[in-house]
Amino acid sequence: MKSIYSTTISELEEFLLNNNEKKYHSTQIIDWLYVKRVNTFNEMTNLSKDLIKKLSENYYFDEMEIIKKQSDKDVSKFLFKLSDNNHIEAVLMNHDYGNSLCVSSQVGCNMGCKFCESGRLKKVRNLETSEMVKQILMIEKEIGKRISHVVVMGIGEPFDNFDNLVKFIEIINLQKGINLGSRHITVSTCGIVPKIYEFAKLPYQVNLAISLHAPTNEIRNSIMPINKVYNLEELMRAIKDYLKSSNRRITFEYIMLAGINDSIDCAKKLANLIRGMNAYVNLIPYNETENISFKRTEKKKILEFYDILKKEKINVTVRREFGGNIDAACGQLRAKSEVK
Ligand code: SAH
Repeated sequence: MKSIYSTTISELEEFLLNNNEKKYHSTQIIDWLYVKRVNTFNEMTNLSKDLIKKLSENYYFDEMEIIKKQSDKDVSKFLFKLSDNNHIEAVLMNHDYGNSLCVSSQVGCNMGCKFCESGRLKKVRNLETSEMVKQILMIEKEIGKRISHVVVMGIGEPFDNFDNLVKFIEIINLQKGINLGSRHITVSTCGIVPKIYEFAKLPYQVNLAISLHAPTNEIRNSIMPINKVYNLEELMRAIKDYLKSSNRRITFEYIMLAGINDSIDCAKKLANLIRGMNAYVNLIPYNETENISFKRTEKKKILEFYDILKKEKINVTVRREFGGNIDAACGQLRAKSEVK
């Protein structure tokens, strides 16, 4: 048995053909699932009893539950219980351009970034494609509105769950289905280099963000263990390849950690590292968490850092802050989600 929400349209077509059914039923099924949004095969009234039986014998509907919702101004955090009782979170942000959902890709994370709360729980397992798709479907149902943008920046390292991630993108991007434009989808990675090369070859114009956070190997090694596997030179080579083959722009995320990576020297080194690339830097005020001792860079220093990058002709923004009051901000997911 396989989840129907993990199944791409081409896999459905293959299933239909192998079961002596017509290929065009795939479009009907997709329409029931993602446009009409039914939760059982029996509701798919334009399919034959026979086909419904075949589908029911081969596919299931995921059982996932929203067990907690916390809201604060423009942001809501949703805690999900998965069918095996694991928990994940997703965060919804209301922007003036639409509703953006930050989805999780794994239960826990193995990347071990020193500043991040999500990684304190080691990876328990990858999320199934369906469990990523359902985060969108269930939250849309809950809020009665469409989600216009998806960022894979919740718990987990998406490139450590690459195959399921790619299927997820294929499913939510499908025009006859959820129809999220690829330019409205962003995937963020801490820098798993071989997967950046693979990602560049995909036929989707999905945005890529890199959690860079340091301009030298020395600093990056001290806060992000992945840098000891794929260092900055290798990472930059992969990113240049991505930029060349995708013709897209890349985002560098840079958390400002007081006394670690926020000096004027760091700003200059960062500018040198990425000069000439079709890229922009998103400076992220660090969200402090109880269990981790890093401190946030003060506002004045963030702006100084910003000014240096500007002067160096680097595109740069300071990330708007969301969700700190309900621990829904970057790096805070899973911090207090244990259900009491
Ligand atoms: N594993 C992926 C996806 C997670 S994205 C990645 O590393 O890109 C989550 C983003 O929030 C990453 O850029 C991460 O580095 C950042 N982050 C982690 N902890 C944070 C914190 N406490 N404050 C602000 N940003 C944080």
